[in-house]
Amino acid sequence: MKKIAVYPGSFDPITFGHLDIINRALKIFDEVIIAVAHNEQKKPLFTVEERVDMIKSVMKDNTRATVDTFDGLLVDYARSCKAQAIVRGLRAISDFEYELQMAQINRGISREVETVFLMTSVFYSFLSSSIVKEVYSLKGPIDGLVPPLVKKALDAKFNR
Ligand code: ADP
Repeated sequence: MKKIAVYPGSFDPITFGHLDIINRALKIFDEVIIAVAHNEQKKPLFTVEERVDMIKSVMKDNTRATVDTFDGLLVDYARSCKAQAIVRGLRAISDFEYELQMAQINRGISREVETVFLMTSVFYSFLSSSIVKEVYSLKGPIDGLVPPLVKKALDAKFNR
């Protein structure tokens, strides 16, 4: 049976921290579906379409990673994709409480879908999309934090 995982998130924008989790998840699963959440409450900088396009460009050489969008219940989406697992990354204890709650809620909804956590790599433990946007807005360097095409997309967004 093909092992499929959904890796959900905002990806606003995708960072090297996300890519590290995707590449490690691809060692465990046959297919990883990177699922961009329609979550306007978070007031994203990039539209869902822009985020999807960036991820597709970054992952273009990997046929086992696919990109999609979802809204509604994550578990329903995972089931519709026939995924056995949801992958999430954990950076710090601060991530833990929310992630534990979500994993337990999701398990309450469906026992068919397991949540699998991958610990952040030490290089990326400080890295988040928010920190990238903050450093960029202060004109700081973000080269080691995001792929070059994401840097270009930020430049275009801010007319730099
Ligand atoms: P969300 O809004 O769902 O938290 P994010 O795009 O911020 O979406 O993150 C998606 C997933 O990637 C989350 O599980 C998050 O913990 C994980 N993640 C983000 N950055 C890193 C990182 N630097 N190292 C490991 N995991 C990360």
